[in-house]
Amino acid sequence: MRYDAVIAGGGASGLFCAAVLSEAGLSAAVVEPNRFLGRKLRITGKGRCNLTNNCTPAEVMKNVLRNPKFLYSALSKCPPERIMEWFEGHGVPLKTERGRRVFPMSDRADDVADAMARVCEKNGVEIIRAKADGVIVSDGTARGLVCGNKTVEADSVVLACGGMSYPRTGSDGSGYCIAERLGHSIVPPRQSLVPVTVEEDFCRKMSGLTLKNVTLSLYDASKPSKPIYREFGELTFFDFGIGGPLGISSSCFMDAEKLACKGYKLVIDFKPALDCEQLDARLLRDIKSSAGETVEKLLLGLLPKDAAGVVAERLNLDISSFSGNMTREQRFDIINMLKGFELTPTGFRPFDEAIVTSGGVSVKEIFPSSMESRLVKNLYFTGEIIDVDGFTGGYNLTIAFSTAFCAADDIIKKKEVEKWD
Ligand SMILES: Cc1cc2nc3c(=O)[nH]c(=O)nc-3n(C[C@H](O)[C@H](O)[C@H](O)COP(=O)(O)OP(=O)(O)OC[C@H]3O[C@@H](n4cnc5c(N)ncnc54)[C@H](O)[C@@H]3O)c2cc1C
Repeated sequence: MRYDAVIAGGGASGLFCAAVLSEAGLSAAVVEPNRFLGRKLRITGKGRCNLTNNCTPAEVMKNVLRNPKFLYSALSKCPPERIMEWFEGHGVPLKTERGRRVFPMSDRADDVADAMARVCEKNGVEIIRAKADGVIVSDGTARGLVCGNKTVEADSVVLACGGMSYPRTGSDGSGYCIAERLGHSIVPPRQSLVPVTVEEDFCRKMSGLTLKNVTLSLYDASKPSKPIYREFGELTFFDFGIGGPLGISSSCFMDAEKLACKGYKLVIDFKPALDCEQLDARLLRDIKSSAGETVEKLLLGLLPKDAAGVVAERLNLDISSFSGNMTREQRFDIINMLKGFELTPTGFRPFDEAIVTSGGVSVKEIFPSSMESRLVKNLYFTGEIIDVDGFTGGYNLTIAFSTAFCAADDIIKKKEVEKWD
């Protein structure tokens, strides 16, 4: 059997590519070692799958960190609107939540994966339970995949093997080795959207604490005047440092080498809605109204218990003392700490905990209009294997789906041309 296309990887991108190809009447095979298709997809968005963002292609590009312009063509062909139409048209009603994040109405990521798997099954896409080891190339043209001692022949080959994050879902970085052996350059992969370790030990005392409505800022330690990143939202403390939406987003703006030499500073504003003057007025009011109460009680009016304890410890405050006896300096110290709680980031947590991989197959060696390799004819790359990655908000799955559509579209067009030749 020779297929029109064979796809290495039955994740978000590979499945979408196979579904689109099969709907156009092309024969396709998906090579995937996992027993379940779309294994990572099924755990996305905490099991709810934030499958895209209800915004324009230009806005998607603003939320792509590495090589956004490369996606211009793919996003023009398959913008979020088209992704939404496809899933709604295949039995997955959607809803748009805060920040234009799109989820299935059912809140079930399985529904997204199952919709693509259903289309593939209905249209006879063959699922081959194997791992691809290499691409068969002759005369500079891809002709199929090698999977152990088996070969799968096809007119086009799509590498949709994902990155290296959450390797237990199957994306173990083997796609990079296959691409590299074909002469492609690999931009060194690193974790992105990953929790960050910090030097200060007191995070341990706040481990498990999630703070909503705080602001996190990231500064270059040598230029502390202008933040590199600042965002309002939710942050979680762990034994090792910080995570949660703000913590992982800040990781996208740090580089590992600079982290290792403590080149950044993270600053939490626990009370972003109040400026220092308003906060002072609030403290004075609280002190007055709670005559006879302790410093501990005063801090507990402003922060959760574990955070209040750490603030008191860092400021050397006697929490059992009478809050009315606090000096002006002590009050200002509290204000400064609430508005500027500093942490020193030291590193990233491992790939097992990273939402995405930054780096991958160099975009310089891929045609942006088709996702076809510039080095090997009829070889395509889609999804996270490419050196593009985005923020949280459904942008990474948007990249996976739109690059898959773009490749499928090119393969379909080539087949149409062949028919007329
Ligand atoms: C916990 C978590 C939550 C996330 N939540 C979101 C979210 O809500 N919204 C969002 O936009 N993004 C989210 N992401 C990111 C998103 O899941 C990925 O960017 C996306 O899945 C990438 O799709 P892909 O098809 O390129 O790779 P994958 O989905 O990783 O699929 C790659 C597939 O290739 C297979 N494979 C690997 N090597 C080979 C080989 N040699 N041969 C054959 N098959 C191979 C793997 O088994 C895997 O099934 C999340 C990621 C994680 C880890």
